[in-house]
Amino acid sequence: MVALKKTNWYLLFFQYLGLVLTIMLLNACSTQEGKKSGDKSDIPVEESRDIKNIAKIDIHTHYRFDRPYLVEELKALNMQTTLVDVVRTEAGKEVRSWDNYLAMQKQYPNRFSLCSGFNADGIDDPNYAESIIEQLGKEIKEGARMVKVWKNFGMVHKDATGAFIQIDDARLQPIWDFLSEANIPVMAHIGEPLQAWQPIDTLNPHHSYFKNHPQYHAYQHPEIPHYDTIMAARDRWLAKNPKLTIMGAHLGSMAHDVDEVAKRLDQFPNFMVEPGARFGDLVRQDSRKVAAFFNKYQDRILYGSDIVISQPESELSKEDIAGGKAFMHKVLHLHWKYLSSDESFDFDSPVLPRIYKTKGLNLSKEILQKIYHDNAVKLLNLKQ
Ligand SMILES: [Zn+2]
Repeated sequence: MVALKKTNWYLLFFQYLGLVLTIMLLNACSTQEGKKSGDKSDIPVEESRDIKNIAKIDIHTHYRFDRPYLVEELKALNMQTTLVDVVRTEAGKEVRSWDNYLAMQKQYPNRFSLCSGFNADGIDDPNYAESIIEQLGKEIKEGARMVKVWKNFGMVHKDATGAFIQIDDARLQPIWDFLSEANIPVMAHIGEPLQAWQPIDTLNPHHSYFKNHPQYHAYQHPEIPHYDTIMAARDRWLAKNPKLTIMGAHLGSMAHDVDEVAKRLDQFPNFMVEPGARFGDLVRQDSRKVAAFFNKYQDRILYGSDIVISQPESELSKEDIAGGKAFMHKVLHLHWKYLSSDESFDFDSPVLPRIYKTKGLNLSKEILQKIYHDNAVKLLNLKQ
């Protein structure tokens, strides 16, 4: 794929905001003029592909705070989302979003489902697994339908011996046994994109993330275990827990090559994946190859966006809020266009440091229905 020279994405973003306002005006005009419902000449192509016709579940979001536009935008997309907790430890304190998510879910019970989480803090304590199981048991009762583990397993947490704690650590096994018994799947963001272990490559969609988060740019930290070590631990964990459904977030950190993801899906029947924040890797690969991957594994791929709302509304200006709405609209429609259309277009996502030329995957309505909805209903055991 040819990558266009980087354009200032802020500029693109505000140009897009202008476009959104223009579209809103055009739509308002067309209503006033009583245009026939079949006439879509003033609706952007991505919207004319009936985005609303398929009920959707975004399996990977972090909407910690409400926004005036949030539920309205989700309704317009016919979309529910799963609120995913990422448990971190910062300066000795546990950082979580669980209470915010509980409040959001209470307010909109049919819009949001919940994913709990835990990390390796305290793993040397003999009661560690027991206390995590107690926490998860409580949160499952409160509504958690999935449990997330993050890249701090493998890359950040060390035990008392100074060893990095990998996800197949024997001390975690009672937790996996508990979750498989409770029929609760695990969402696993283990490892990072391969770029983390390589020198910065400005063509890579992740280069600005690692520039801005150097603590995860493993290339600069030789003490962090190698990519292959972390992937091998993840694979041993998958093999050791055949009854536990493990959903690899970010395409299992193998998004640079869908063949690598396919190998694991073939090897581990308990493995599923979602592409949140990895569309930049997909659009760089041959769309025929990626479409074949989605076709072949249509029952084991879910839709995820990884969109974050991290600040309360009170901390933001009107412009920030309008920008957030335009961002969400843009990203979700761009994903839909990539998955559903057969067009060649510029994948100009505001989360990416550059524009990539790509071609839509042209997935059938049946496959879109599975990826956007049915597979998530099964995974989360939702009643629809
Ligand atoms: Zn995420």
